[in-house]
Amino acid sequence: MKLFLHQSDLKKYLHSVKKQGHSIGFVPTMGALHAGHISLIQQSKTTNDLTVCSIFVNPTQFNDSTDLAKYPRTTEADISMLLAAECEVLYLPQTKDVYGDVVKVQTQFDFEGLDTGLEGSSRPGHFAGVAQVVKLLLEIVQPDILYLGQKDYQQWAIINKMNSLLNLSVQVVRCPIYREENGLAMSSRNSRLSVEARGTAGIIYTTLQWAISKLAEMKFDTIEMEARKKIDANADFKTDYFKILNAENLKPMVKYNEQNAFVIVTAVVVEGIRLLDNVVKETT
Ligand code: AMP
Repeated sequence: MKLFLHQSDLKKYLHSVKKQGHSIGFVPTMGALHAGHISLIQQSKTTNDLTVCSIFVNPTQFNDSTDLAKYPRTTEADISMLLAAECEVLYLPQTKDVYGDVVKVQTQFDFEGLDTGLEGSSRPGHFAGVAQVVKLLLEIVQPDILYLGQKDYQQWAIINKMNSLLNLSVQVVRCPIYREENGLAMSSRNSRLSVEARGTAGIIYTTLQWAISKLAEMKFDTIEMEARKKIDANADFKTDYFKILNAENLKPMVKYNEQNAFVIVTAVVVEGIRLLDNVVKETT
């Protein structure tokens, strides 16, 4: 695996790769890698000649500097996982290499409401920071395909939108959620849960699946209410939101129909740790 600390060197290398007609897949991450991240690398490797992974903890998406400082940094272990996955390139920059001297959001997008609810409600400015860093990283890597996890569904929807607003020629692929054995969506935060809570947290996915199975037969507000009850019946579990939305524009839906794709998104706070998950019902 080739390791690049500076975008100038990376760009030079990728320029020569592209000149040879090779395709490039890109997986941006903030490190603390787990099997979910690696599944994105694997998906990229099946399609592209070369896969670039970036590890960069992006300061502009944190509205709390303590959160930024506390974000886990496990670079050595991350590198071992990327080597084992046979990832070809790692971009591991310092903040200055990505942002230069202006570490702030410079481009504001109109995401038509995609960014205001759900995670956007509890983290103002978060998605503007995410969009900013992905824009900068895409300018550096210029991949053919960008791989994002469905796990962060709202983030995927926003980056997809940015891609069309900027007319970038990159294809955005949404990768399936990689789960633990009990169905809990894999996340670096899971290791902060007690063994008990981590076991019980499978209820989040079970409840999402139950909700999907009821879409055609129950009223949506009843499904949402019952789902919250199922999850919150467990000690130290508190549902922040559980919502049935239009999968394209993330607007609330009230009734099932076969022409629309739906996404059911949830955020549950377990022992003080925020867990995200979702399921999608495609059109039939
Ligand atoms: P992060 O390092 O948390 O910014 O995540 C980097 C990428 O990995 C994002 O596109 C995430 O959506 C994706 N990701 C995180 N967890 C999972 C998972 N359990 N399954 C699939 N993709 C994931």
